[in-house]
Amino acid sequence: MNNQLQITLSPHLLTETVDRIHVRVSVCQEGLDLLCFPASGFSGRIPFATCQNLQCRDNEGPLSFTVSDMRDEGPLSYKKLKFERKVTGTLICSYDAYSRELPENYRSCPYFDFRSEELGATGSGLFLLILPEDKNQIYEVSTRWILDDLPRGYSAGFNFKEDIVADLKTIRFSFFMVGKMHRIASASADFRWLKDPADFDMRALAGKTTSIFDAMKAYFNDSESTFTIFIRRDPFPLSGGGTACPYAFISGYSTQGTTDIRRWENVLVHEMAHTWLKMGASVSGFPLTWFIEGSVEYYSAFVPYRAGFYDKEYMCWLINNKATERYYSKKYRTCSEKEIAEIQWKDMEAQTVPYGKGFMYLSLIDYKLRRKNRSLDSIIIGKYHCQLTEQNWLDFIEEEFGPDGILEYYDMLNGKLIVPPEDIFEGFCCEAFETDIDGQKSLSYRWTPADD
Ligand SMILES: [Zn+2]
Repeated sequence: MNNQLQITLSPHLLTETVDRIHVRVSVCQEGLDLLCFPASGFSGRIPFATCQNLQCRDNEGPLSFTVSDMRDEGPLSYKKLKFERKVTGTLICSYDAYSRELPENYRSCPYFDFRSEELGATGSGLFLLILPEDKNQIYEVSTRWILDDLPRGYSAGFNFKEDIVADLKTIRFSFFMVGKMHRIASASADFRWLKDPADFDMRALAGKTTSIFDAMKAYFNDSESTFTIFIRRDPFPLSGGGTACPYAFISGYSTQGTTDIRRWENVLVHEMAHTWLKMGASVSGFPLTWFIEGSVEYYSAFVPYRAGFYDKEYMCWLINNKATERYYSKKYRTCSEKEIAEIQWKDMEAQTVPYGKGFMYLSLIDYKLRRKNRSLDSIIIGKYHCQLTEQNWLDFIEEEFGPDGILEYYDMLNGKLIVPPEDIFEGFCCEAFETDIDGQKSLSYRWTPADD
């Protein structure tokens, strides 16, 4: 018999919001001896939902357990529930998960936390569900939302279907929304949000973004896919971030009117592009954020621009945002990728550096390839279908550019500043200017549209 996983969620209403969810996870699996959850992630910035009344039982009755540290997995620190006797039959773990109280001076961080807002709540499977350990194990999963406590017109759902056969990675790396939901769904994108924004038209934005999504899907040869997009209202000024899992993402704007909607529109496209662009298996020992975020920055700008969705002025503003603001103007711009990974979630000034650096490095490679009548696409999309290992990349740059290409790559990883050729971006002029970076006069770069 296949492993079975049943998830039952009963949200609780507290004056027009959802403040907690009663979670019941039932697992039927041979040899199960522990459950686990990420107690916190991203240097402590994202906590697991606060749990009360945590209980486990099986066919023989109540099951005692201890909670202890398990291991770190990337930015996540897992804890385990270890049972004090053998599990017999079906294991049932139940608890009340409370939505998060945000700390003071909070700013945009990965959007995995379980958070209430007016008319409902959003969150991820990752920081809500206590599940078995093996993320690659396959389960027959059924998810049921019990909405008896909520008023008429409220609904709930994850981005995955209620009944699926899936591994636990799919269940953990998922998003949900519960509440009085607005929804605009087409064959290609299913936008969901709670309270309407006060200062912009979410419907118009969803419509425009859906058209860009169609162009992106065609570009990445994935026209049949559908994306689920959860929009969150952030009660703090430094908002406008997003977090993606395959074919779904959650993104937020500030309720204080401080989000630059022009930039945020492109964040939605950025989050979408994460579905396709992957690089794994570091052989250099360096994190691969430069590609994972940099390629997404590159394609989320250039695909809509080339498809005619962005005019030259907006594209120029995007280049300056991605390259100048997020890389050249940062005091951490010459840190190595390893150094950045250490401080990325502690000092948010460091966080965008690999994004901008990756964007510039890939733009530089594209510039060099264009001079040989090729392009970045022929490698990333044509040859590797967007799924690369670092070794693939090393092989490619060695073949194209010889030992100099390898040297240039390691220089980038080690934090050597990328000096852009004047005509790196077709149709835009690069200008070097002197600026103050961390108390030192330094050269930075910015772009203006070139005359046609
Ligand atoms: Zn990203």
